[in-house]
Amino acid sequence: MQKRRAIVWFRQDLRLHDNEALTDALANAEEVAMVFVFDERVFTDTTRFGFAKTGKYRAQFIIEAVQDLRQSLRKLDSDLIVRVGKPETIIYELAKELKTSWVFCNRERTREEVKVQDDLERNLWSIGQEVRYSRGKMLYYTADLPFPVTHTPDTFTQFRKEVERVVPIREPLPAPLKPLTKLGIQIIPGDIPSIADFGHDPIEPEPRSVLSFKGGETAGVERLHYYFWESRCVQTYKETRNELIGGDYSSKFSPWLAQGCLSPKTIYRELRKFEAAHGANESTYWIFFELMWRDFFRFMGKKHGDKIFLKGGTTGAASALLRNDYRLLQKWIDGLTGVPFIDANMRELKLTGFISNRGRQNVASFLVKDLFVNWQMGAEYFESMLIDYDPCSNWGNWNYIAGVGSDPRENRYFNILSQARRYDPKGEYVKRWLPELANVPLEKIHRPDTLTFAEQDLHRVKLGDDYPTTVVEMEKWEH
Ligand SMILES: Cc1cc2nc3c(=O)[nH]c(=O)nc-3n(C[C@H](O)[C@H](O)[C@H](O)COP(=O)(O)OP(=O)(O)OC[C@H]3O[C@@H](n4cnc5c(N)ncnc54)[C@H](O)[C@@H]3O)c2cc1C
Repeated sequence: MQKRRAIVWFRQDLRLHDNEALTDALANAEEVAMVFVFDERVFTDTTRFGFAKTGKYRAQFIIEAVQDLRQSLRKLDSDLIVRVGKPETIIYELAKELKTSWVFCNRERTREEVKVQDDLERNLWSIGQEVRYSRGKMLYYTADLPFPVTHTPDTFTQFRKEVERVVPIREPLPAPLKPLTKLGIQIIPGDIPSIADFGHDPIEPEPRSVLSFKGGETAGVERLHYYFWESRCVQTYKETRNELIGGDYSSKFSPWLAQGCLSPKTIYRELRKFEAAHGANESTYWIFFELMWRDFFRFMGKKHGDKIFLKGGTTGAASALLRNDYRLLQKWIDGLTGVPFIDANMRELKLTGFISNRGRQNVASFLVKDLFVNWQMGAEYFESMLIDYDPCSNWGNWNYIAGVGSDPRENRYFNILSQARRYDPKGEYVKRWLPELANVPLEKIHRPDTLTFAEQDLHRVKLGDDYPTTVVEMEKWEH
């Protein structure tokens, strides 16, 4: 009799550990084909406002993650079948060719991802097969919540209070250890593309980058081990997390979490182990707290669906003041607004694909509340550039900052100058990314607009020439 065969369709779950879809497939089928499809729309299309949907930093990270997954599977006598195209067609064709019984995958929740999985499901029905969904993204399972997902509290604090003490976090699933059964049919594994195949220029090494992020489960697990056990940075996370320079001020788990190279449940279990060995403190708790934020935004995505992408966000309260101002947007993108703290962050983002949470909050607030540019343009630019882009975390945070999401405080406003002086008190961060301000003394580093002509000569920076004049009146932040 023919063996029962299944496909595991890897998506943003590029790992073997704690992978529910993989575990389910191996439990149900005798032979499992592992497949990853680079969705041509995700890797080559542009967004509504004209940005590459997946910028080069994230494209590179995903390619590395796929390479790593293939290597890990090869060590288990298996392989990863890699294709470029439309998953709903390619997986369907493979299912026909392989005569599988099911396709297993971890369910995604946002618009474009859901459409692909629905289309695939429909195609599979036509040949009597089905998609079996699992869950692999979060700490908490929808089924374990004390409320239906449609009743998830809209503020984080309320959400946290209702789940953290009462909902247990499930144990992560182990990775397969034994060699896997080979497929009884020959299939070409396929080449893994490079970023040039998606039309990107090579990535120049950037020595100022916080970390040289490498995609894949192997590197993700190494980072986890480093941050908890080797450096024990986790013990001081709460004090350092608002810093701006270097690899250690925060965990930097986000790119691995976004592509599923690390499971949040695995991080949580490791955190508990660490606390058992070295003691719990506010910092160790705060890592858990931040992972809850991540879950919260995903639940907001589930509850509110497409609303998170709309100008009015989850509240529907779109501001009439915001314009699609491409001229200001471009200055913001290029780090040429004349506000050093903003420009430094935006240049870091452009050159590395990553900025700190503090930086993200400031640049987002500045775009919306000082430049009055449509926040969706900023969110799309982030979507393109961020190495750790995650639909719910990105759009949810933008909703929050734009005042159309889950922020309980009305009209939250970031005074950029106060933020700059507080979080970059010596101007080191600004000078790191804006070398043209290298000679400006500390008292003026965050206010170059106040440099007199004589001071500009003295400090070798000519405003409007070497560094732009400011697009906003900075004096407003002094009061
Ligand atoms: C405008 C804006 C856009 C953002 N876009 C994204 C995005 O696309 N992808 C993304 O992963 N994060 C996003 N964030 C959240 C946050 O900035 C990053 O998760 C964090 O900076 C990543 O660095 P880290 O891994 O060192 O985080 P840590 O400070 O070490 O936190 C640990 C983990 O907790 C989670 N986390 C922390 N803060 C948040 C938060 N505010 N919201 C959701 N999860 C959080 C992340 O998974 C992070 O890896 C955004 C924040 C803002 C203000």
